Amino acid sequence: MPDRAPTVMWFRDDLRLADNPALTDAAMQGPVICLYVHDPAFALGAAERWWLHDALTALDHDLRARGGQLCIMEGSAQAVVQWLAQQAGATAVVWNRRYGGPARQVDTDIKTALKVMGIDARSHPGNMLHEPWQVRTRQGTPFRVYTPWWRAVQAMEAPLPPMSVPASLTFASLPPAVGEQQLAPSALRLLPTRPDWAQGLRDTWQPGEQAGQARLDSFVAKRMAGYARQRDLPARPATSALSPYLRFGHVSPRQVWHAVAAEKEMDEDGACFLSEVGWRDFAHATLFEFPEMATRSLRSEYDRMPWRNDPAALQAWQQGRTGYPIVDAGMRELWHTGWMHNRVRMIVASFLTKHLLLDWRAGERWFADTLVDADGASNPFNWQWVAGCGLDAAPYFRIFNPVLQGEKFDPAGDYVRRWVPEIAHLTGRDLHTPWKMAPRGYPAPIVDLTAGRMRALAAWQTLQDA
Ligand SMILES: Cc1cc2nc3c(=O)[nH]c(=O)nc-3n(C[C@H](O)[C@H](O)[C@H](O)COP(=O)(O)OP(=O)(O)OC[C@H]3O[C@@H](n4cnc5c(N)ncnc54)[C@H](O)[C@@H]3O)c2cc1C
Repeated sequence: MPDRAPTVMWFRDDLRLADNPALTDAAMQGPVICLYVHDPAFALGAAERWWLHDALTALDHDLRARGGQLCIMEGSAQAVVQWLAQQAGATAVVWNRRYGGPARQVDTDIKTALKVMGIDARSHPGNMLHEPWQVRTRQGTPFRVYTPWWRAVQAMEAPLPPMSVPASLTFASLPPAVGEQQLAPSALRLLPTRPDWAQGLRDTWQPGEQAGQARLDSFVAKRMAGYARQRDLPARPATSALSPYLRFGHVSPRQVWHAVAAEKEMDEDGACFLSEVGWRDFAHATLFEFPEMATRSLRSEYDRMPWRNDPAALQAWQQGRTGYPIVDAGMRELWHTGWMHNRVRMIVASFLTKHLLLDWRAGERWFADTLVDADGASNPFNWQWVAGCGLDAAPYFRIFNPVLQGEKFDPAGDYVRRWVPEIAHLTGRDLHTPWKMAPRGYPAPIVDLTAGRMRALAAWQTLQDA
């Protein structure tokens, strides 16, 4: 008997088998072809590329364990998806939705083209707690402020319980023409070679669904207690470090929600943790309303901000050589591991956009290239939040003093010592003000904190006066 016509499951930011609504839909129709398209039009940062290599390898491994495989192809997503669907005689292509402007446009174009070809195209909600258009004010407009948005989310029905890996998952064999074109992850040239700077990433992370699920389980069981009190202390492993797993969809936000809700009665730690997960949805909902969020300040008066052009200062910040220990520790943690603690992200972003008066977009781009969790919504959203130009932003005149922040959130100095060994011998307050001891091998501050603060406030004042 001939194979039933297959359904193409197009994986994107949802590299998992469990709680994957599109995959569940495909499996219910009959045999499935699992596709990933590496589209050069959607450039990824260097750290994301490293992650993606291992993520695709892990997904292919998990599919092979079930008798299938991941068909990896390179090229324009529209051309590849249409060609493969036609070659395979597919009746449908299914995927989970994305929310960025260019990605949505591609998906709309592909849907239209497939329909013309007589091939069904179905999209599913798989990457958020709720779809952006489901959470609305009483007037039916999008929320612009987080707290009422989160209140509205909590008043809604809880997200649907996560789905298991589809029990009925069967696979179609690839047509020979497709088999000839499919690539191994290594053929995508995602890994750095000369130089290979990824040792710190390899030491820190294991991409893939199984590792993500294990991290979620162990966080909820062992580390979530104390989250509300300790999540601001970068020396402690108090946060989940689930962000890259959510970014690549190894773990779904619904799985996170229900793992926390199922644990016990919702206490302060669980509630605080879920409200942080909520920020991720809110960032995507904001991107959905403002597709240019990565390049345009949401408050248009910031178009007139007199940002400075200072490549040497930018480079010192990127390399963790500003002379301010908590800033340098964060930037070095980022370079070494591809991740940085949230409190320190806020400190380094404030330092860049305020004490150095450099455009938030320069910081956003550096993060996009170096974070393994670099996210097209959360990254620009948070940069705009810190820089004061987001809709629901911290006011620009709230300027973090990196010395006081260091003393408050790294009081014993363990975080700074871990990442800035040149000053590890300093003790007490000296660790956060090392210039008083003039340690060898560590730079003097690149900006005076008082002068930098005054310059930032004067620049901001020009926006108020105009
Ligand atoms: C300047 C700046 C840039 C950032 N860029 C990114 C980015 O590119 N990708 C990214 O995922 N997060 C980004 N964040 C948000 C936050 O710093 C990280 O999500 C968090 O540090 C990840 O660590 P965790 O998984 O241990 O977080 P946890 O504290 O364990 O939180 C759980 C999850 O909630 C979500 N979350 C928590 N805080 C935020 C937040 N403020 N905004 C959006 N989601 C949040 C993340 O998915 C996170 O994994 C940025 C923050 C700042 C200040």
